[in-house]
Amino acid sequence: MSEQKKESGVDACPAWCSSTAGNSATHSHVSRDVVVEATGRPLLGRMIQMAGTDEVRLLIDDSVATLEQAETFARAILHLAAEARLAPPGLGFVADLAVKAGVSTRELAMAAGLDPQRVKAQRAGGQVLSPGEYDRLALAAAKLFADASATATTGKAADAAGVAVSAAPSQT
Ligand SMILES: [Zn+2]
Repeated sequence: MSEQKKESGVDACPAWCSSTAGNSATHSHVSRDVVVEATGRPLLGRMIQMAGTDEVRLLIDDSVATLEQAETFARAILHLAAEARLAPPGLGFVADLAVKAGVSTRELAMAAGLDPQRVKAQRAGGQVLSPGEYDRLALAAAKLFADASATATTGKAADAAGVAVSAAPSQT
């Protein structure tokens, strides 16, 4: 097996390499550092490719990961962190939609599959729902509002037109 894979000197640095250590064909490629200040010690990420190998690795603090692993991890962390975030306080336009749809906060919460008590707390100006939950609530409210509008115009030109009337004057 005298397969000669690479002639020395063929390899140049990848674009991300910031190593200044001599010969680009023989050194280990090292990226710039990504540093995020944390409360304890800073988090540090760095890309490396050991000399003589094709594989790029990510060094995250003391852990080593493949590019794919690092990307999967980053996405999972983003999802996880998003769960910890909260929607702005109050229900905003969702409350208006619920009123126009003629549904109670409880009904709205049930439609969205959320705990009514939490939705009530949010409506009262609290900040308890995650952005995802708020979105679900908004979707449910929009659907209830659309259903209510459709019901209100049933018997009129709903079928004939086949077009949603978005600015129908409200009559009480
Ligand atoms: Zn390099």
